[in-house]
Amino acid sequence: MTGKVYLIGAGPGAPDLITVRGAEILRCADIVFHDALVHPDTLALAGNAEKIAVGKRCGQRSTAQRFINKRLVDAARKYTVVVRLKGGDPMLFGRAQEEIDALKAAGVAFEVVPGVTAALAASAELGISLTRRGVSRSVAFITPRVGENEPESEWIQSVLAADSAVLYMAAGQTAQIAAALRAAGLPASTPVVVIENASLPGMRRIGTTLAKLAVAMSPGTVTGPALIMLGEVFRQQGLVALAAPNLDIELLTVKRVHRS
Ligand code: SAH
Repeated sequence: MTGKVYLIGAGPGAPDLITVRGAEILRCADIVFHDALVHPDTLALAGNAEKIAVGKRCGQRSTAQRFINKRLVDAARKYTVVVRLKGGDPMLFGRAQEEIDALKAAGVAFEVVPGVTAALAASAELGISLTRRGVSRSVAFITPRVGENEPESEWIQSVLAADSAVLYMAAGQTAQIAAALRAAGLPASTPVVVIENASLPGMRRIGTTLAKLAVAMSPGTVTGPALIMLGEVFRQQGLVALAAPNLDIELLTVKRVHRS
């Protein structure tokens, strides 16, 4: 066994939001197994490496997790620096534990390099703190998505228990999510923000309420990676109050030029 596998967080999208440590390891990488959403400029840091897309994007074919695990173990037998590059932080909704368990079982050395998760990039982008004295003392990162043969998710209880809730992998089912949360007793007036492509030039955000979420997010409104964020902190910041009078929607596209 010669190599080591680095599970690196690429950050939420903008190529300059990877950590210095992550970038330095990428520069030395022999081979990189990366998610679909990783920015091309981030991949370019691994100048000498073979690059293999193993990513998952909703509804599209993706490499089976067991096969990815095996490829990481095999690569560690052949190369010195093997990188598994994941969007955001590798340890959040990234199936990192399955890869770590496989590496441990095979006796392969590994290291995890954290990254900026989408929720924190969104908070930065909006200029809204997810915690706030007297308003929000807890934040939950949640996904309603369950894999095949997994037990029913308790995601609704998690939303109800947190002052601020961030839903990952949920923007495609906003109507069902809004209905389930209303049925569980969350007030219709609960402020909701949907943010797409946080940290990227094509960032868009929609400020609305739980009652209007399904209308605001008609199918096709959002096509990029997006989060649904709920909680009083969004009302406090006036994001929902700013909404267009007839629609209760603020749809804002921000164009930004990033340093290259
Ligand atoms: N490990 C990643 C999350 C992977 S799950 C992290 O820490 O961020 C993939 C989900 O993350 C997407 O369905 C979407 O909900 C969210 N996401 C990823 N990048 C995003 C971005 N730039 N803007 C908004 N949401 C994003």
